[in-house]
Amino acid sequence: MAEKTIFEKIVSGELPSKKVLENEKFLAFYDIAPKAPVHILAIPKVCIKDFDCADSKLLGELCGFAQEVVKKVGLDKSGYRIITNIGVDGGQEVPHLHLHILGGAKLKFPSLA
Ligand code: AMP
Repeated sequence: MAEKTIFEKIVSGELPSKKVLENEKFLAFYDIAPKAPVHILAIPKVCIKDFDCADSKLLGELCGFAQEVVKKVGLDKSGYRIITNIGVDGGQEVPHLHLHILGGAKLKFPSLA
């Protein structure tokens, strides 16, 4: 059996997290090393490696969940950014699909390389 990802351990409670919102399928929690004043990760509870491996139904549901998250923390009023990193060139470190929800300040757009 493949080793559990960090995020699977967060879902199971083996690792702690600061939860923002949860339902049967999805979990949102604060990133441990925030890259913006507000930095939340929204993940499916089941481990899907990345955006490429997810079907459109799941992605749609994850996006709907992310909308609930941004409303819960009030980012819908000020604006925010959603990113998902994919693979080596995308800079993905944790092989478990996640949306980064970033906000709480006027964000700069990063340079490409
Ligand atoms: P990525 O590079 O897109 O795979 O992003 C992985 C993110 O997970 C990074 O922003 C990390 O800071 C974050 N992260 C890693 N471990 C934890 C953890 N235990 N709790 C919360 N966030 C984490």
